[in-house]
Amino acid sequence: MVTITINGKQYQVDENQTILQAAVELGIEIPYFCWHPKLTVSGNCRMCLVEVEKMPKLVIGCMTKVADGMVVHTANDRVIEARQAIMEFLLINHPLDCPICDEAGECKLQDYAYNYSRGVSRFDETKVHKPKRVPLGPKVLFDAERCILCSRCIRFCEEVAGKPQLHFVQRGDHTTIETFPGEELDNPYSMNVIDICPVGALTSRDFRFRSRVWEMASTESICVGCARGCNTYLWTRNNEAMRLTPRINESVNSHWMCDYGRLETFKFVNEDIRLQEPMIKQDGKHIVVSWDQAIETAARRLKDFKPKEIAVIASPYTTNEDNYILQKFAREMTKAVSIDYPDHIKDGDEDDILIRADKTPNSTGLKLLGIRGDGKKTGIPEMMQAVKEKKIKCLIVMAEDVASDPAYEKVLSNAELLIVHTWSHNKTTALADIIFSASTYAEMHGTMTNFEGMVQQIKPAIITKGQNRALEGLNMSRWDKFGTQYDKWGRGPRRNARPGWEVFSQLANAMGGKFRYQSAEDVFREITEKIPAFKGLSYQSIGRLGAKAPVKEKIGV
Ligand code: SF4
Ligand code: SF4
Repeated sequence: MVTITINGKQYQVDENQTILQAAVELGIEIPYFCWHPKLTVSGNCRMCLVEVEKMPKLVIGCMTKVADGMVVHTANDRVIEARQAIMEFLLINHPLDCPICDEAGECKLQDYAYNYSRGVSRFDETKVHKPKRVPLGPKVLFDAERCILCSRCIRFCEEVAGKPQLHFVQRGDHTTIETFPGEELDNPYSMNVIDICPVGALTSRDFRFRSRVWEMASTESICVGCARGCNTYLWTRNNEAMRLTPRINESVNSHWMCDYGRLETFKFVNEDIRLQEPMIKQDGKHIVVSWDQAIETAARRLKDFKPKEIAVIASPYTTNEDNYILQKFAREMTKAVSIDYPDHIKDGDEDDILIRADKTPNSTGLKLLGIRGDGKKTGIPEMMQAVKEKKIKCLIVMAEDVASDPAYEKVLSNAELLIVHTWSHNKTTALADIIFSASTYAEMHGTMTNFEGMVQQIKPAIITKGQNRALEGLNMSRWDKFGTQYDKWGRGPRRNARPGWEVFSQLANAMGGKFRYQSAEDVFREITEKIPAFKGLSYQSIGRLGAKAPVKEKIGV
């Protein structure tokens, strides 16, 4: 450790840090564009210039190491004047198109223009014009006029994604970014350059012009695209999911997420194919019924079957709470012996960065809950064989489209009673006798356990009907709050969906059980009491960044 003085105050800091790293850690503002904590230092934007006493010139904070006795000034007249000059220089050829720029509202250049520039331009020449709307690859569009040449995107591709696909070309004020000849920006992590670009030069072809930042609210969530469980912000507007962006968690995903997770794991939440209400089959057709009717029908019909005639399929796509209650319901209320869940492993689709071959967010959770039993391989084929032979006559399926496997579609039609709890119409719901419309991960509280045993929380970002408590304390945009109050504007909760723990608790109670849970947190409390692998955890200890499940040997990490 060394002692340095910043703006007249003494601090003890790590001797291996730079001035900028020390300031960031101490919460002292030094503006910067090109520096990024996870990339090598390039020192080309000059925005972090600071004065160090006894040094003749200003120095860049991102490259200057701290030293014992160093006296630093981050906001004296000399530094302020230098920053104003840098800002003036950066803005000379900038198009100043904030009103139509996607980055507006979350742009470093915009923020710094307010905070550190003179507020007027002395430049009355013609600006250099450069190409706009250049597709760098299938997912990212480049606006060369907005680029401030910080090189973050170039360094990201090389150092994090391991795919050097971008580079600078030309010189002086004609310098710009291009992909290498014959290359596209198409690596599996390409969209992270959009997040780290400090201006609106790199935009998402998927999200471009879909919403202004200030019209949306963001909720802390996790990606459900694979067993990594990258931490995310789920952005919503008018009760609709708009985009996912990564949330920093050094123990899980650092600052990044993959393009698949970003693009493919939230759109289903909005789709018309979502189940709107619970339904039962009558005379071969599905009709909408109330929750009470659906649950009462299921409770009544389940009584016709012996325990060994009932099989239950759980799902690593949904939470620990949902699966725990489904299992408890199955074992206590139906006495079913046949309980399992399918694996969703995509061999070969894995890397050393984030992506996992297990394409579900919670298979480790199900393992720790003991749903499959020790060391047993998936019993779904055996279950289906028993359905085929009519030994199993009733199936309860949660969040799995079992009939999407053509081999099982026909088999499932043999079941005398098929109860399905899921969020969208699919081949299995088409065959179902009773359908419970499920909340998605974007609409409920709960926990999921990633492949390393990190138990992480999800929270509702979108409101479903009857979910009034979700309104309390939620981080919703002004528009969402408006919409929820004034349904006639079509902005209110649209779907009558419930999470699995709630539905199967209600079903258990309708069958004479005593499942007294008021919230997902109540269920989790019981999990921590009953399942040793979760002992000692709570929603509070999991917090924003997750907590490790205490039993490691069970998950082999
Ligand atoms: S496109 Fe963005 S990240 Fe890349 S060099 Fe330009 S300003 Fe920096
Ligand atoms: S690596 Fe997995 S969890 Fe992370 S963003 Fe991609 S799909 Fe989602």
